[in-house]
Amino acid sequence: MSGFADVIGHKQPIDVLRRAMQNGKVAHAYLFTGAAGVGKTTVARAFAAALNCQTLPDDACGTCVSCRKMAQGNHPDFVELEYEPDPKTGKVSEKYKIEQIRLKVIKQSYYRPLEGRVRVFLIKDADTMTLEAANALLKTLEEPNAQNIFLLETRHPQLLPSTIRSRCQLLRFGALSSEEIGRFVVVEMGVSEEEALTVAALADGSLGRAAALDLEYLQNVRLPLFAQLLKMEGALETRALAMGEMILAGGEDMKEVIDLLTGFLHDALQWRVEPDPARIRNRDALDLVEQYAQRFDVADIYAKMRSLVYARRLVERNVHKQMIANGLGVDLLATQATMFTRGRLPK
Ligand SMILES: [Zn+2]
Repeated sequence: MSGFADVIGHKQPIDVLRRAMQNGKVAHAYLFTGAAGVGKTTVARAFAAALNCQTLPDDACGTCVSCRKMAQGNHPDFVELEYEPDPKTGKVSEKYKIEQIRLKVIKQSYYRPLEGRVRVFLIKDADTMTLEAANALLKTLEEPNAQNIFLLETRHPQLLPSTIRSRCQLLRFGALSSEEIGRFVVVEMGVSEEEALTVAALADGSLGRAAALDLEYLQNVRLPLFAQLLKMEGALETRALAMGEMILAGGEDMKEVIDLLTGFLHDALQWRVEPDPARIRNRDALDLVEQYAQRFDVADIYAKMRSLVYARRLVERNVHKQMIANGLGVDLLATQATMFTRGRLPK
């Protein structure tokens, strides 16, 4: 992994960067925007490597001394900020504080690059700089200097001060197509093309999510979970309890199971609107999606989705998981959604 050739998708922003290098018109600061996990950081690192590559003018060769140091993560002129633990509490807060920006970015930017042509600073989730930190960085961005290049990434550009945004060249990173993710999954995860298709559909345009999906889990948990949504025989209590158990068994982070269920209901809604298999995410569960869509109407499906949203927020608020799972089990299986949907949604 080194140059642009290894990046999946994002032809447009990469073309912009390469052309800038070819024409000697690289901006002092770039702001990469786009969803989590689409590949902003991968492109940023490839760009940083290309800027100091000793062989190629507009890409990283992967073999020169500079490219090798980049690949090993020890190039002295590439500064990738990480969140740091608070010196007092030892806790890592997901913020860049002013001291860190001063020490790791501003101070370093005064010196010449040690080995490369330029020094590249990468600030991921740049919107998590404190306002003080952002203002300190702004001063540096306002006094551009050819030896420093700043790469800022964010999912939420609107959270960055407009003064910072206006100092950067904006590059948008769109979601990857299912084909692009499928390619990544087949190569990186070593799965069949058919499995890759499902993973790609579930990953929602994000390579990060695709890589994090656990295939075995998907196969062992997903389909029985969806099938349980369709169980009608027997007492509600028994079925709901079984559903609750399955939700709990789905893993530490209950949000993942909740998202799976939401995705399934989303598919059922989609099927009611337009029964086109190409638009269904859970393509390996197509018959279940179809049955569900035939049995429940739009209002029912919405009510159940609302329960899932509610449950997700309860998980985020650390409400006891057993309780959430039980409540959700009842709501998902009752003909009319009950306890969760009556409550107001917590913020
Ligand atoms: Zn090179």
